[in-house]
Amino acid sequence: MEYPNMNDTIVIGAGLSGLAAARALRDRNIPVTILEASDRVADPWRKRHPQLRLNIHRHFAQLPGAPMTRNDGTYVRRDTVVGYLEDYAKALDAEIRFGTRVLSVERHGDGWHVQTNKGELSCAHLVVATGRESIPTIPIWPGMERYGRPVIHTADFGDVTQYEGRKVLVVGAGNSGTDVLSHLARINPAKVWVSVRHGPSILPKLILGFPLHRLAKLFTYLPKWSLDPSFVALQWLSFGNLRRFGLRRHRTGGATRMRQEGVTFALDDGFVAALKTGRFEAVPETVGFDDTRVELANGRRIDPDVVICATGYETGLKPLFRDLGALDHNGRPLHPMGQPDPDNPGLWFTGFTPGLAGFFHAAGETADKIAKAITNDRQPAESAHSAMPQNLAGTRNSLGARLINSTRLTATARRTATKGASQ
Ligand SMILES: Cc1cc2nc3c(=O)[nH]c(=O)nc-3n(C[C@H](O)[C@H](O)[C@H](O)COP(=O)(O)OP(=O)(O)OC[C@H]3O[C@@H](n4cnc5c(N)ncnc54)[C@H](O)[C@@H]3O)c2cc1C
Repeated sequence: MEYPNMNDTIVIGAGLSGLAAARALRDRNIPVTILEASDRVADPWRKRHPQLRLNIHRHFAQLPGAPMTRNDGTYVRRDTVVGYLEDYAKALDAEIRFGTRVLSVERHGDGWHVQTNKGELSCAHLVVATGRESIPTIPIWPGMERYGRPVIHTADFGDVTQYEGRKVLVVGAGNSGTDVLSHLARINPAKVWVSVRHGPSILPKLILGFPLHRLAKLFTYLPKWSLDPSFVALQWLSFGNLRRFGLRRHRTGGATRMRQEGVTFALDDGFVAALKTGRFEAVPETVGFDDTRVELANGRRIDPDVVICATGYETGLKPLFRDLGALDHNGRPLHPMGQPDPDNPGLWFTGFTPGLAGFFHAAGETADKIAKAITNDRQPAESAHSAMPQNLAGTRNSLGARLINSTRLTATARRTATKGASQ
């Protein structure tokens, strides 16, 4: 079988997850090529609103080998994250092919065939780090087409000052919703409604001035069964009964939702106080629109100047992976954190479940896991054979042999290229 542009390992995406994976692979001397759709590193962060700060503590907002410093603040600014990721990419001994969008992925023998807007590539191992928030999604509500006022996604929130003096409806109070609501609490909109089916699992960013997320690792040592009740207790102690202010508790606990659906905790930084003092009003679920008004589940109609949908994102992975059986019905990877996929050996996902410590920390841990697994796969055929069950040995042996060949080819190609360049 022909393998055009054969690579050892390809990483799709030069975000923090992809960069961390590439670094872990390079640390083990595994050749890696990164394919990045945009023209620069950290593009998703640059597009996020300018007042954004991380909601995770600086201590967990770093990738392996590159600590953040005290000067970066407790909760790091968006622009600092962009600079940090740029520096991380520069220090990486790996080729990043910018402007290269992966369009589809197929199995080819033991390896992977990747179709991009700039041609085809093949590899033995494919690491998918395209981000969990690729495509902002807004539900289609009845009557929406007639509605004459702006309906935007939180991804397009922009500069908060533009909402000064305006009537704003935020649909959804999850992580992104709570983020924009906390920013709106710092200015003076004419009115803010937040439309919710149920309240979020919400915790304060600071407790008596102490950054709660600094304790994230501590929670990971608690037994799983105790996490949901612990967070409910913490939420209650911090905010009291939020039901009185229109935020009903979700029937599934926050830790369970994070584990099962990847839904992160909302971190409050002013929203709840605005709700309690009556500056903001929680209203029932949004069910429809007319020319100028939004209809709520209790029949009430409100007339915001702008509707901001905090209604989530899709991964955008479905068109890439079609019938490989690697995704669930929502398009999320079945093995989101570097676990091997028995049906798709050599295919790895990272950056699709955050964990309590956040995405940076998860990216480091997952990168390490993936790099170790790929290193094991690259062991010479004989040792791999002795260590493996019989039914896997054949496949892995041919993969090991092909990798050794492809590494030699890569080295030869490099030497040829260097020779050519020096002539
Ligand atoms: C508003 C907002 C605030 C957030 N705040 C935090 C926070 O405080 N703490 C936290 O831990 N997390 C936060 N997150 C989650 C955040 O998405 C992650 O921390 C981080 O961006 C994930 O990095 P990533 O590398 O997995 O994905 P991304 O940053 O999305 O990077 C994916 C990369 O893949 C590229 N790509 C996508 N598809 C293709 C393709 N087909 N071919 C080639 N390249 C492709 C993209 O261009 C992009 O560069 C926030 C998210 C949002 C939306």
